[in-house]
Amino acid sequence: MKYIIIIDDSPTIRTSVEFTLKDIGFGLMHAENGIDALNKIQQLSANGDEVAMCIVDINMPQMDGISFIKKFRENDKFAPVIVLTTEAEEEKIQEGKKAGASGWMIKPFKAEQLQSVVHKFLR
Ligand SMILES: [Mg+2]
Repeated sequence: MKYIIIIDDSPTIRTSVEFTLKDIGFGLMHAENGIDALNKIQQLSANGDEVAMCIVDINMPQMDGISFIKKFRENDKFAPVIVLTTEAEEEKIQEGKKAGASGWMIKPFKAEQLQSVVHKFLR
């Protein structure tokens, strides 16, 4: 099975992203920070499952979004990584792109907007 990994320290955001993507036809997995996500992705690969996409926050405890993307990209150059954050500074966005982010969305998000970005990257 292919999974979209929803990585955010806010349970409310994770739940609302999950609700927005519930009909998209992929498994949906939550993680609360970068470390948690890397562990869960490792488990998932060990089970023969795949990452279809990551949707990742920037500001999180233990491991932030930029550090997560760098680590994730060491093993996976292709799965799209969409950043979903309150950070709108151009400098941060460039840092994210350099780390390997595929797209950048500013919170709060609209359901249709997130759905269309996900469709675009998973087409
Ligand atoms: Mg956060």
